[in-house]
Amino acid sequence: MSTFPSLQQLHDLKPLQQPTYPDSGAVQATVDRLRGLPPLVFAGECDALKAKLAAVSRGEAFLLQGGDCAETFAEVTADNVRNKLRVLLQMAVVLTYAGSMPVVKLGRLAGQYAKPRSSDLETRDGVTLPAYRGDAVNAFEFTPEARIPDPGRMLDVYNNSAATLNLVRAFVTGGYADLRQVHAWNNDFIRESPFAQRYEQMATEIDRALEFMKAIGANPDEFRGVDFYSSHEALLMEYEHAMTRIDSRTDKPYNVSGHFVWIGERTRQLDGAHVEYFSHIQNPIGVKLGPTATADDALGLAAKLNPDNEPGRLTFITRFGAEKIREGLAPLVEKVSAEGVSVAWISDPMHGNTFTSSNGYKTRRFDDVIDEVQGFFDVHRSLGTVPGGVLVEMTGDDVTECIGGGEELDEASLAHRYESVVDPRLNRVQSLELAYLVAEMLRRG
Ligand code: PEP
Ligand code: MN
Repeated sequence: MSTFPSLQQLHDLKPLQQPTYPDSGAVQATVDRLRGLPPLVFAGECDALKAKLAAVSRGEAFLLQGGDCAETFAEVTADNVRNKLRVLLQMAVVLTYAGSMPVVKLGRLAGQYAKPRSSDLETRDGVTLPAYRGDAVNAFEFTPEARIPDPGRMLDVYNNSAATLNLVRAFVTGGYADLRQVHAWNNDFIRESPFAQRYEQMATEIDRALEFMKAIGANPDEFRGVDFYSSHEALLMEYEHAMTRIDSRTDKPYNVSGHFVWIGERTRQLDGAHVEYFSHIQNPIGVKLGPTATADDALGLAAKLNPDNEPGRLTFITRFGAEKIREGLAPLVEKVSAEGVSVAWISDPMHGNTFTSSNGYKTRRFDDVIDEVQGFFDVHRSLGTVPGGVLVEMTGDDVTECIGGGEELDEASLAHRYESVVDPRLNRVQSLELAYLVAEMLRRG
């Protein structure tokens, strides 16, 4: 299809991971309403992010992408958004200093409400119901009514995304993101946590750098505000199609529900509806690549999604698991770079490292997460290619969903505060620790 496809044309391609709505009239009404609503992001902002991702692909910037596996409407509160943003900003400062380069800050938020599931059904105590597919589709509660897909939820996605993004925009431009403030939070983290002593040296160095800037009277605007972008997996055809608009400057389609959107591991078929849709939008985009991805898959995706080989347009987000990353990633990167394909490589060290604990929680080991990032760096360093960044599932709160880290959370502690409705997230402390450990990897150069 050379022109932007209709929703019907995309449905003809049989998109995977879609809900079956009982009432098609209600779906149409929602889609019509969404089409008339204002954009959440602007095409020019998407272009600016694309230019930054081009710098990432050249090794001149580092990408930090983070947020919940699945946002929920109930968690759209000022406290929750602020805590998440604060930790992301704290992580970014550490990475910026260690890498001596800009960190592109990309929230996995303001739209991350639709989830692919490995099974259409969920069984508990002999009762089988449709799986929870994210707040965009149905409710988490385990009752037949709650699990019926409700198209009206797509309007709630829009409204909650707008509220989240509005708060984020206010925070990052209104003084909250001031570099000196963010660094002071990092110092608090190091003071409070005995196990964080190993990160003290870097904090002291940042102190000195800031003191130096103060001494010479430098007080740039960049101290007070940062650029922050939104991203989500563009999964739900009705929502993403309705939120795609033709930009008046360029006459081209942009997804205006988030700056960056990605295709998940389960929906990246070359002839599938998602890849077709993504091939038309102008946003910077990502594709997840797991252990079954071949170099030819990657080349096919690049040819279809970025035929002009535009730098910054395409990001490959690799998620192999700690055990497979070293062997699995190398041939992929080698062939893709030998073909001269322009791509930013990002490590998702979360999705290949999920398992069920003996007491029944879906969890991840902090050490596996770190090991996968290390493997990702090792592969790129040995090939002379660029380890461009990390994607983490994290929260600003002190949840207990992943095992390990300095607090040494064990399996028993998962029961204390497990709040995720889908995948386990790094908590505040684990996220900051990850930032310091990745900073050390960046520094080793
Ligand atoms: C995710 O990012 O939450 C996800 C479902 O990832 P993947 O598509 O890589 O499995
Ligand atoms: Mn996830």
